[in-house]
Amino acid sequence: MQIDINKIRSDFPILSTQIYGKQLVYLDNGATTQKPRCVIDRISEVYETVNANIHRGVHHLSQEATDMTENARRIVQKFIHAKHPHEIIFTKGTTESINLAASSYCRRFCKEGDEIILSAMEHHSNIVPWQLQEDIAGIKLKVIPINEKGELILEELEKLISPKTKLIAVTHVSNVLGTINPVEDIIAMAHSHGIPVLLDAAQSVQHIGVDVQKLDVDFLVFSGHKIYGPTGTGILYGKENLLNELPPYQGGGEMIGQVSFEKTTFNELPFKFEAGTPNYADFIAFGTAIEYISSIGLDAIKTYEDELLHYATSELEKIEGMRIYGTSRHKSSVISFLVKDIHHYDMGMLLDKMGIAVRTGHHCAEPLMHELGIEGTVRASFAFYNTREEIDRLVSGVKRVADMF
Ligand code: PLP
Repeated sequence: MQIDINKIRSDFPILSTQIYGKQLVYLDNGATTQKPRCVIDRISEVYETVNANIHRGVHHLSQEATDMTENARRIVQKFIHAKHPHEIIFTKGTTESINLAASSYCRRFCKEGDEIILSAMEHHSNIVPWQLQEDIAGIKLKVIPINEKGELILEELEKLISPKTKLIAVTHVSNVLGTINPVEDIIAMAHSHGIPVLLDAAQSVQHIGVDVQKLDVDFLVFSGHKIYGPTGTGILYGKENLLNELPPYQGGGEMIGQVSFEKTTFNELPFKFEAGTPNYADFIAFGTAIEYISSIGLDAIKTYEDELLHYATSELEKIEGMRIYGTSRHKSSVISFLVKDIHHYDMGMLLDKMGIAVRTGHHCAEPLMHELGIEGTVRASFAFYNTREEIDRLVSGVKRVADMF
């Protein structure tokens, strides 16, 4: 299937916005994606037609809202090819999913001196929750290094694994370098030592898709707002047997079996991990977002975004003084760069005046910036609604700024 770019662009109302009198060029999709009309409408529709607190009512609206939420869970299950719907836990986003996993996993499986392996290219969301467990559970962190192309060095991972290793938690795709990590090899290596793997799929599900059963991954996390869905939605996938072993993360309504002041028992999966009233209106619209991109097809999306990536890379490389960070052959549609000694904030602010939205700074990956010996980069990240014409505008904007300095 091919991308019908005009039809797709007309699905996203915000793309026709003018910024400083110029047509918006939105290239900050790694931070958050824009929302198609069907997702925006779905949120209003829920509040206008079925709104009622889920799982608790015998009345019609509550049951309908519950059915729609559980249907959204099944849409996510199908999308990532999970075996059971109850392996899909609704959260606020990737960050909350990792905090949940780190807290419950370390409480259940880790003791003083045990080790968790991360990588040098992790987002702070896959570093700090584990660091909190250094204090709470006494674990230690080890870090897989990267090479000059921004790829993980797997021989080093092999050396880091020890009898104390309790989990490997790595990103599937780097939000800075765009590197698509060889997660099949990482999971195979980890499992040969009996170690589970958590994949941060915040930057992969929307570009290349995942099949958790084929990957045989133990935990997988991602955010709804980065995959064309609403903010405040995310997923923690876990294998049923592992999730059943973990203690709850938060206490409150719906996660309980029975409560007394003497003893409380907990609900079954997935509710054990969904304390309090869930963000059901947004979860329902999250399901709509997944249906929307599934109707376009991830293969078509990947082919189209790969073309954008190659075109943008070859055009940007022609600019004198251009340095691109992340040159792996296996890359998703993200380009981090610096030009001459122009500060990334200056570049970002001047591009903004031309209507071009890019991200600047450390991209919540300060340890990676230290590794690269820089403070930050300019990052252009593409979605399937971007066009070659928009890339031409980015390239000519960057050239204009480079000429000013
Ligand atoms: N992990 C990666 C790789 C990311 O790119 C991001 C966000 O940029 C996160 C985690 C955190 O996601 P969220 O802020 O939606 O929780």
